[in-house]
Amino acid sequence: MGKDMTVNRRDVMTGLATGLATGLLLPAQGWATAGAADLTIGDMQVQTLSDGHLVLPRAMLFAGLEPAAVDQILQAKGIGAGPIEPPINVTLLRDANRVVLFDTGAGPSFQASAGRLLAALETAGLSPEEVTHVVFTHCHPDHLWGVLDDFDDPLFSNAEYLMGRVEWDYWFDPNTASTISEERASMAVGARRRMQIVAERSTRFEDGQEILPGIEAQASYGHTPGHMCFALRSSGESLLIGGDAIGNHHVSFAEPGWPIGTDQDTEQAAKSRLRLLDMLAHDQMRLIGAHLPQGGIGRVELLGSGFQFIPDAVN
Ligand SMILES: [Zn+2]
Repeated sequence: MGKDMTVNRRDVMTGLATGLATGLLLPAQGWATAGAADLTIGDMQVQTLSDGHLVLPRAMLFAGLEPAAVDQILQAKGIGAGPIEPPINVTLLRDANRVVLFDTGAGPSFQASAGRLLAALETAGLSPEEVTHVVFTHCHPDHLWGVLDDFDDPLFSNAEYLMGRVEWDYWFDPNTASTISEERASMAVGARRRMQIVAERSTRFEDGQEILPGIEAQASYGHTPGHMCFALRSSGESLLIGGDAIGNHHVSFAEPGWPIGTDQDTEQAAKSRLRLLDMLAHDQMRLIGAHLPQGGIGRVELLGSGFQFIPDAVN
């Protein structure tokens, strides 16, 4: 409890400073992201760490959707007008031999409301040097840019970096910045620059590969060309680290077939999302979503013609 209080206070202070600097009020959701969630899968201890939150304009996230229909879904989740401010959850896995991070948060130079992973790690009793493996779901800024510190050096200096081969090849290609859409070009430049810095300590894996004991990579393309999820299995228990394959708890659960503006290939992303939601609901497999609420760990249930996310935190 004492620890949690410290996190809350620190996040609030940072959040207030950010709010003052940008002239924005600290959003209510920002407060809720401070708490971590945790569970065990066999001998793997899994928890999420808060990297802060994103601020996403509705016009970008819901481009092409009927605003009234979107509003109805958001209101049912208690989300009012203005930009969407989802949490950024980074997954930490520990067992007897390893300290594994899934993604690295947004780092110091993406959004003022993000980049808090280091403080969250500290609260979990870890220094970045103790991380043995960093596994990436994909190369978007809020998942990759935290790989470097303020001086552009690798933050997790003793870690091995693991990424799906398709994702690596796409973003490491110098032509991607000119072939990707204009609004995504800076993401491509930013991704490649960071990948170059960690390249020599990095390895690639394939769909279906067991990347570490009990951890299987599962292709879930669409959000990015090589997006990967990870299925954890141990002692009859299981969990899916879903990254951004199911990117929000509102529209993407209620209407999983609808296009989402942050998905690069909206059709392929919708197919991946539907397949995963069906699987998670049917198998009652736990899910960790990078931008799902209340720590991001929970279950998927059928609701009407869609689904709903039930965070562990409410049980
Ligand atoms: Zn993301």
